[in-house]
Amino acid sequence: MNSPITPRLPGIRFVHSPGPTHVPDEVMHAMQRPMTDLADPRVAALISACESGMRALLNSPKSDIFFYASNGHGVWEAASSNLGSDQHTLLIAGSGHFSDQWAIQTEGLGLSVLRTPHTEGQRINVDAIESALKSDTEHKIAAVMVVHTDTASGITSDLLAIRQAIDRAQHPAIYVVDVVASLAATSFDMDALGVDVCLGSSQKGLMMPPGLGFVAVNDKAFNWSHQHAKHRFYWSWFERKTPVQSAKFCGTPPLAHLAGLETSLRLLQDEGLHAVYARHQRLGGAVRAAVNAWSTEGAVRLHCQDPEGFSNSVTAVEVSQGIDPEALRTVAREKFQVAMAGGLGSLTGRAFRIGHLGDMNEPMILGALAGIEAAMRVQKIPYGDQGLTAAIAYLAEHTP
Ligand SMILES: *Cc1c(COP(=O)(O)O)cnc(C)c1O
Repeated sequence: MNSPITPRLPGIRFVHSPGPTHVPDEVMHAMQRPMTDLADPRVAALISACESGMRALLNSPKSDIFFYASNGHGVWEAASSNLGSDQHTLLIAGSGHFSDQWAIQTEGLGLSVLRTPHTEGQRINVDAIESALKSDTEHKIAAVMVVHTDTASGITSDLLAIRQAIDRAQHPAIYVVDVVASLAATSFDMDALGVDVCLGSSQKGLMMPPGLGFVAVNDKAFNWSHQHAKHRFYWSWFERKTPVQSAKFCGTPPLAHLAGLETSLRLLQDEGLHAVYARHQRLGGAVRAAVNAWSTEGAVRLHCQDPEGFSNSVTAVEVSQGIDPEALRTVAREKFQVAMAGGLGSLTGRAFRIGHLGDMNEPMILGALAGIEAAMRVQKIPYGDQGLTAAIAYLAEHTP
């Protein structure tokens, strides 16, 4: 039988899924550092460096940072289980597939969830959050939980507008933000935005292999959790808040991942966070310029309807009926060495997604767009032929 997997080919295979993303050599090498016993002072120093690096990245000098050997779904559960109580409800703002999954997972813990409605192609409905909070006169809603960039739709919502809605409703809810897909791609200042809890994982903008999650928690959220949350243990912030660095993991710390994170945080600071965000904005703009040019033949188009919601991390491209985005992905990956992501949730079979976050630069983006265009040609998908030209023009106009 023929294997569908192409044997190793020379050159670089491009990873343009919105996670896992390309991992820089410096991070890979850091992860190969030898193991030590847990009492070795290098372990405590490594954990401290990761905590302070995360605080600097989040611009939140005082938040507690809790690391977990987990993916993003794990830190979703960390947030929900530390903020869940039988007397309270968690409001999960509809943003698309990822808010749906977070809600399903939270309900699976036996917690009460209130979801606000969402319109496809649009940002989070802030008014719906505000009116839900205003009608909650008994303050049953413990937290407002929001996905900053919904990776399925490639739409980034306005976190400040949501903070202001909570304030207008004069509601004490804890403000929780999933920054899994936006962190280190879109500017995020936890304290300035009035965010109480944020969570993320390693394999997206942090340029690492999957397997390390974090939650940042301010005093308000920590104290609320300690007072009200249901029983929990492995995920518990309270259990993990100890001055003994290696005891913070409820078991053995994921040392290789922490060594990788220390390095990736340093790479981001060396580049400068403003430069990092500007680079992502530029690369995202180039991808959208190409997609808009492709769309003139009517077969493919940007999914996001609101330019304010364009994501720096990922672009979802909708296809017309009769076009199979999964077949396109296979050709792009196996014939042209460009790995993309597919449609999720309501976009399954209707879209493909181009990731443009992490360790990424202009020639990588142009190479990926060219590979995708070649795959569209093989698949006889009609597209406007000015895509690459438009991306190049965008990059040339926006060069720093
Ligand atoms: C990827 C992602 C997750 C889930 O992360 P996993 O590591 O795949 O479990 C959660 N939220 C967002 C916004 C994501 O992009």
